[in-house]
Amino acid sequence: MYYKAKDQALNNDHDYHIAAILWRKKSPIRIGVNSKKTHPAARRQYSCGPRFVHHLHAEMHALLNTDTTKNDVLEVMRWTKDGQRTMSKPCEHCMKVIRASGIKKVRYTDWDGTWTEMNLCAISMR
Ligand SMILES: [Zn+2]
Repeated sequence: MYYKAKDQALNNDHDYHIAAILWRKKSPIRIGVNSKKTHPAARRQYSCGPRFVHHLHAEMHALLNTDTTKNDVLEVMRWTKDGQRTMSKPCEHCMKVIRASGIKKVRYTDWDGTWTEMNLCAISMR
């Protein structure tokens, strides 16, 4: 699974290589990768016609059109061009999407490639 995610992320034709995997009961159900704004999934319909959002982050891509449960786990990982794991902490925009999805546990790779776990239980939506 990680090879597949890494392969997609490293071939995303982008300067940043980030992948997100949504896990349910230890099974991966969605892979998301960050992509250029021309990615069809980044297309938004506006009153003046279709426009592309700035770019689509891996976390948002993984959660797009997906029904999530509070027991799902989102893993975010980022690679350098030479394939080393590096910091992939979700940005504030993705965190909003993640919180809104109800997911309580997010894991991301740190600067040295180790996993860091983030628990969202204590955060109130109100
Ligand atoms: Zn983001």
